[in-house]
Amino acid sequence: MSTSNHVIASETKQSPAAEVEIATVCCADLAMTSGPSHVLTFLRSHLPTFLPSCFLAFLALSIAGCQQPQKQTPKVVVGDHATTIEDLALRLGLRIEERDDAFVVLKNAANTVIIFTHTEGRFFVNGKPMGPVGEVKRQGGTLYVPDFLIPQIRRYLRSAAPPPVVRPSPLKPKALVVIDPGHGGQDPGTISPGGLYEKNINLQVAQRVAGLLEQKGLGVVMTRRDDRFIELEERADIANRRNADLFVSIHSDSAPNRSVQGFTVYVARAGSPDAFRAAGAISQAMAGTGSDSHGIREADYKVLVQTSGPAVLVELGYLSNSQDAARLRDPAYQNRLAQAIANGILTYIR
Ligand SMILES: [Zn+2]
Repeated sequence: MSTSNHVIASETKQSPAAEVEIATVCCADLAMTSGPSHVLTFLRSHLPTFLPSCFLAFLALSIAGCQQPQKQTPKVVVGDHATTIEDLALRLGLRIEERDDAFVVLKNAANTVIIFTHTEGRFFVNGKPMGPVGEVKRQGGTLYVPDFLIPQIRRYLRSAAPPPVVRPSPLKPKALVVIDPGHGGQDPGTISPGGLYEKNINLQVAQRVAGLLEQKGLGVVMTRRDDRFIELEERADIANRRNADLFVSIHSDSAPNRSVQGFTVYVARAGSPDAFRAAGAISQAMAGTGSDSHGIREADYKVLVQTSGPAVLVELGYLSNSQDAARLRDPAYQNRLAQAIANGILTYIR
């Protein structure tokens, strides 16, 4: 069926619908609002790039330079075979993205439909020229197009892409952990009866923890990577400046009673729920090493209270205890400890 049949049919049926004027947007109107160069720009931005320029130029000219304004606008009625552009969009699952006197752009996630609304305008589905739009009518601000466009456009619409599968990220994006090997430089920390320096044990385990976390894709900053002295405030500031997700200070313990052994995880007394959650995850993972657990304790260590984000302090074991001291210097045990601490951190970060 041609479009003129629709108009004739509607005229002869004497439909009671309101009278409207046939839209006669053509060269005169376009010259004022969107001349050939504007039409070309529009086409370039809305049609696939593979369309040759000469075709675009032809199209622009055919839109902008073809029609003569009609001296008398014939009165017609909106027939049964006309539909508003809003209704057409609705029935095709498209939204009206853009409209002016010369065209309407309809879109959804997978499709772009352009309907040129001047006399003998064509419509395009995803950049491909389709047939003529047919009789376009305007009544006030309402635009009517022939309803045969609906099946014609629908035939060429791509099905909308399925929504992307959102998998939970294994790690929070840009998670950053600050690892703080306690003591260093002129500050040896505690010293075992056999002459083992806490600062060295702390650094060796901390480096292993950092390496494991980096392997898992976390951002890791160490407050020191060698044997140097760093003030406690500076250690906390390193985490604060970077807005770290977690600050983990690593130490080794000492007690007058040399039979005391095992690990402890400390949180500041006013520690955040996140800090306690991190301490819990680390403590639980460390229990798997077979070392005695002293659980989670609260203490206002300077590095804990001066850190604005969640902060924990891990005491790896007692250098004052001969068994703990012996295994704390053992690289295999250091690896197990580091793996446990890293696992706890990863559990917390996830
Ligand atoms: Zn210490």
